[in-house]
Amino acid sequence: MRKPIRTIVIVGGGTAGWMSAAALARVAGKTHRLHLVESEEIGTVGVGEATIPPLVTFNRVLGINEDDFLRETQGTIKLGIEFKDWWRRGHRYMHAFGAIGRPLGLTPFHQFWLRARALGLDGDWEQYVPNTVAARALRYGRQQRPRTPLEPLTHAFHFDAGLYAALLRRHATAQGVKRTEGRIRRTVLNAFDGHVEAVEMEDGSRVAGDLFIDCSGFRGLLIEQALGTGFEDWSHWLPCDRAWAVPCANGGDFTPYTRSTAQGAGWQWRIPLQHRTGNGHVYASRYMGDDEAASILMGNLDGEGLAEPRLLRFTAGRRRQMWNRNVVAIGLAGGFLEPLESTSIHLVQSAISRLLTMLPNEGIDAEEVADFNEKSRLEYERIRDFIILHYKATERDDTPFWRDCRHMAVPDELARRMRHFQAHGRVSRLYDELFLEVSWVQVFLGQGVLPRGYNPLADQLTEKELVAFLAEVRAMIGHELSALPTHADFIAGIAGAV
Ligand code: FAD
Repeated sequence: MRKPIRTIVIVGGGTAGWMSAAALARVAGKTHRLHLVESEEIGTVGVGEATIPPLVTFNRVLGINEDDFLRETQGTIKLGIEFKDWWRRGHRYMHAFGAIGRPLGLTPFHQFWLRARALGLDGDWEQYVPNTVAARALRYGRQQRPRTPLEPLTHAFHFDAGLYAALLRRHATAQGVKRTEGRIRRTVLNAFDGHVEAVEMEDGSRVAGDLFIDCSGFRGLLIEQALGTGFEDWSHWLPCDRAWAVPCANGGDFTPYTRSTAQGAGWQWRIPLQHRTGNGHVYASRYMGDDEAASILMGNLDGEGLAEPRLLRFTAGRRRQMWNRNVVAIGLAGGFLEPLESTSIHLVQSAISRLLTMLPNEGIDAEEVADFNEKSRLEYERIRDFIILHYKATERDDTPFWRDCRHMAVPDELARRMRHFQAHGRVSRLYDELFLEVSWVQVFLGQGVLPRGYNPLADQLTEKELVAFLAEVRAMIGHELSALPTHADFIAGIAGAV
């Protein structure tokens, strides 16, 4: 007989654990008992400061007011990511959120730009991306109602991950999530079907449940250590396996964007928060030693270091099954793609949404589990390919790392996408993927993957009309953005309005 799912145990109290607990409490708190176990002694990974726009919706669903969120997490606005020195040294481009220009009929804007480029009229691509124009001008504000047909700016956040977990914990416990502090020493499996029955704490007490969400971080306490699910290693495509992270005092521009600067064997992030700037150097240990990587990081800070740098080790890849028996792995327990496109916290959010839509009732349905695993696999693989593109599409050959990245064989689906874009400027996506065509287009163009042709629908305008259309889009962007405050003033307004 199938066992009804009434008690859900979340193992781990990092960002993944508390996001899961808060979301479950919000939508299933009246029907399910929720229990979270965490160990302060073990602690959390403690990084993860840059996000992408869907987090705005996540907070809204939880009923977290955005201004309160920004105040409580020392948060700032993120409009995109600037990539410096990725295609070539000295070059920079922005992968910004939101729309590009505006479509005409069914034809995406970039096809008109490609046609203009073919006619020698192109000009700088980035002047047609509202988020990029605002980001470069260091501006952000909430647009009441767009005054033109352009979409409003699309934003995400930078925030202090520890403060966010604390905020979520308050929300979750206020809605009835029980919390147990302490170290789990063993997982108890049912002898009959191998499902997890309980986790046993160091003091011998047990926390039992029907469904377990493994948010225990890289160690994968349940999904791997107890169930031996297996890990698919992608380090041959994504060789970065270490990061030094360090906060520094604020200095330099207060950017409403993350900066990623390519280094000799990886890249460095810069994430401005209200009270400090987060920095990290992600690198491949096969190509660079730890000391050299740390000294590059410390030599490229905008302000005084506020702590000793911390070393983190990881392997790119994913668990072979995100859902195995009665255990669902969410967060680092499920897999890791390096933080280049800030996708980890989003993968937590999307796994929670998927689980909520498939929440088992009278027992676990094997077909639902298979569906969950297949969707998770596709999601991870497409994000993986998007990240690989940044390494593959480079002209850099100044270090062995970049030479190897440039010449590596990439997954078939990515190779197909690159060929397709080079031919027509089109991105054919396979299903409801995270990154939309506008994201792929920005990274392709930014990394020097330039199409030979364009969609003939862009020929519907005469040359004169095309020039006027592009000028009109530039004028609309200028008009929309002229009224915005600076990012610094916007954040100061929120921080001061307590
Ligand atoms: P953890 O934070 O490791 O939490 C694990 C939890 O399990 C802890 O509470 C721990 O105490 C508990 N636990 C483990 N073992 C036991 C035990 N035996 N008993 C009891 N409790 C136990 N993501 C982004 O979206 N944006 C970024 O910019 C970003 N940058 C990153 C940079 C780096 C270098 C790295 C490594 C990751 C980055 N991430 C980023 C990923 C992000 O940090 C994680 O996805 C996120 O923090 C979720 O982590 P977690 O909760 O799965 O794991």
